[in-house]
Amino acid sequence: MIEMHDVWKQYPNGSVALQGVSVRIDKGEFVYVVGPSGAGKSTFIKLMYREERPTNGSIYVNGFNIERLKERKIPLMRRQIGVVFQDFKLLPNLTIFENVAFALEVIEAPKRKIKTRVPEVLELVGLSDKADALPSQLSGGQQQRVSIARALINSPAVIIADEPTGNLDPETSWEIMDLFEEINRRGTTIVMATHNKEIVNTMKRRVIAIEEGQIVRDEKRGVYGYEN
Ligand code: ADP
Ligand code: ADP
Repeated sequence: MIEMHDVWKQYPNGSVALQGVSVRIDKGEFVYVVGPSGAGKSTFIKLMYREERPTNGSIYVNGFNIERLKERKIPLMRRQIGVVFQDFKLLPNLTIFENVAFALEVIEAPKRKIKTRVPEVLELVGLSDKADALPSQLSGGQQQRVSIARALINSPAVIIADEPTGNLDPETSWEIMDLFEEINRRGTTIVMATHNKEIVNTMKRRVIAIEEGQIVRDEKRGVYGYEN
């Protein structure tokens, strides 16, 4: 599903974020990416959806060699990857329905498809009654549910999340994590960078730890392993 071979990333300002990372993530896995601030977690994740390009090495996502990808194929690749951010990144002037429909409108999906698919994903995240609300009318946890619905709209094979519970209180974080568990149970691969020690230690999923741009630990039923 996702493979990296000897991936290096140096930013234009000279910071080296990844140093020779190789990893394989299979279909259906749920993977936590942990490590200290500045270790390279976000970079690792951004490379997977081609927000950043590697300086060296190769990356395959769902069969696409993502650096060799032609520009015109990028939208097709991105549709197979849902991305969820810490700060939700919802469009403030659009309703919840419109925020979720956006990715379908961009690809000019038929209106009929939009009318059936959007309510489907809103139902999955438990927000059927909020379709007409604006993001500012929702709580943080609800806004994160909207961004998860948006990530799911094209039924991606993988969801990549960068600290999705970073702005949420502990109880809401657990609710969001239950939702990710449910999505994973339905077959979607999940790769999530997180600082949430409690959640990682309770879930006993695969844990990849990154320090100074290298994978220092990769365990099938791992633990968080840092004080916080
Ligand atoms: P983490 O997500 O683990 O906090 P990052 O991947 O954000 O780590 O950062 C890894 C290293 O790369 C850090 O030294 C950071 O300052 C640097 N870095 C990240 N993004 C950029 C960027 N856009 N330009 C320059 N340096 C960056
Ligand atoms: P995170 O650890 O969640 O990635 P940061 O605050 O480290 O959050 O980074 C926020 C944004 O700034 C990211 O898009 C990252 O790529 C970028 N960034 C991080 N470090 C640097 C840096 N040294 N120079 C430029 N951009 C950076």
